[in-house]
Amino acid sequence: MLDIDPVDDLICLRAENGAGEGPVLPPVARASLYRKARIEDLLAGLARENEDFIYARGANPTVRAFEISLAKLERAEAAKAFASGMGAISATLVALVKSGDHILFVNNIYGPTIELAERLADFGVSHSRCFSPDAAAITQALRPETRIVYLESPGSTLFRVAPIAAIADLAHRAGALLVIDNTVATPLLQKPLTLGADLVIHSCSKYLGGHSDLVGGAVAGRSDLIERIFYKGYMLLGAAMAPDVAFLLLRGLMTLPARLRRHHDDALALAAKLGAHSRVKRVFHPAFCDADAALFAAQMRGHSGLFSVELDVDSFGALLARVNRLKRFGKAVSWGGVESLVMVGHKSDPGDAPTRIPRGLMRLSVGLEGVDALWADLERALA
Ligand SMILES: *Cc1c(COP(=O)(O)O)cnc(C)c1O
Repeated sequence: MLDIDPVDDLICLRAENGAGEGPVLPPVARASLYRKARIEDLLAGLARENEDFIYARGANPTVRAFEISLAKLERAEAAKAFASGMGAISATLVALVKSGDHILFVNNIYGPTIELAERLADFGVSHSRCFSPDAAAITQALRPETRIVYLESPGSTLFRVAPIAAIADLAHRAGALLVIDNTVATPLLQKPLTLGADLVIHSCSKYLGGHSDLVGGAVAGRSDLIERIFYKGYMLLGAAMAPDVAFLLLRGLMTLPARLRRHHDDALALAAKLGAHSRVKRVFHPAFCDADAALFAAQMRGHSGLFSVELDVDSFGALLARVNRLKRFGKAVSWGGVESLVMVGHKSDPGDAPTRIPRGLMRLSVGLEGVDALWADLERALA
């Protein structure tokens, strides 16, 4: 079912990294600064620091190679890489909003992104949330002062799919930009810019790196927007990606199609088995959500190795006890690496309070250990 086109996507990567002669990956440029032949050249370079190599808080050749690769994968004019996903998100918001503006968050959003929005309230930037991905609800939630509609699709934790093209249209009519965090889908499974989004954000710490050995972020989109983010966010906040991280990402991208295929297949198999298990109440995976089926098929080429299940437990403690019985799934934050991981939906017992995230929710990141070993582990933990 997974319909990624590794030829299409990998060829565009290889073209950037030298398909003809020379090394298959660019060297790691560990310099913090660049000498120019004449002082005039330095001054000219300083005037366009987003393009020239002057100082590594601005641009770096290895980081640039990764940015070009990611831009190609997202069908973007340009991309900027950051020290982390949150670095990319904070620079983007700081660059694009001012006091009096409003940000509308649609669908389930990564927690620290909302914490950042709460911080921005102290600077006169308001925000509100629309958990429903339906056009009618979003229309209601838009305000005259909305400048950014910020979307995750599939959303964090519950993986609901939102109609990107329709939301882009609504945002544009309201005079707002559509920014989408595409971390869960990766550029291989969904290309939001081709559906009308203005900017795409990634935490590169997940599938793009793919081996749980780096933290990085990126934003991609039109050149004028990326330039604005460069000067008004990135250069001032200073979350620059290290060249060694860019190198690991270039290497990670080469195996992304192969890894995703396996993550996708094995997660789908495990989600189906879990869905049929008597101890599982519900599976949260786009392929198992009837309401999202048509949109999922039209907008995405498949889903990754990340999904959640609601266990039939009568307390938060009972959920933790089940999770503790898992041996192959590491108890850890983050996801997208070769090792399977498990996390719960709440950091502490939500008690009887009504919550959007079910109390018994367990999120799985399916690694590359194989379905048999992982299913044996899950079956034993649930028994
Ligand atoms: C992890 C994550 C981020 C933050 O990325 P970092 O690299 O950890 O800063 C942002 N959005 C989503 C959806 C994520 O999963």
